[in-house]
Amino acid sequence: MAPNKTKAEDEFIAKEEAEKTKRLKVQLEEQHSEEQRKQTKAVCYMKCPKCGADLNEVTFRGIKIDRCLNCDGVWLDEGELDKLAGEEDTSRIGNIIQIITGKV
Ligand SMILES: [Zn+2]
Repeated sequence: MAPNKTKAEDEFIAKEEAEKTKRLKVQLEEQHSEEQRKQTKAVCYMKCPKCGADLNEVTFRGIKIDRCLNCDGVWLDEGELDKLAGEEDTSRIGNIIQIITGKV
């Protein structure tokens, strides 16, 4: 320890270094997570979550939905189910959609 440094200064510097290391670690974890998200999206984007085949965007009742070219599964983005149900829809399918979305 340098003769003109106090114990308080050493502790302050050590604390600053620890916080700097912690911030750097968080930053690296965020970069890693972001990179993982990009890789996952590159592999999975517009792929059927059930069979892995390509999805094709089709318009149904004015809403663009994703349909699998292999298994004919239909996948909806956030909010599309609500749009299909409609706010005033009291039909059987509308009731089923409300049950699925928890908006009974
Ligand atoms: Zn499929």
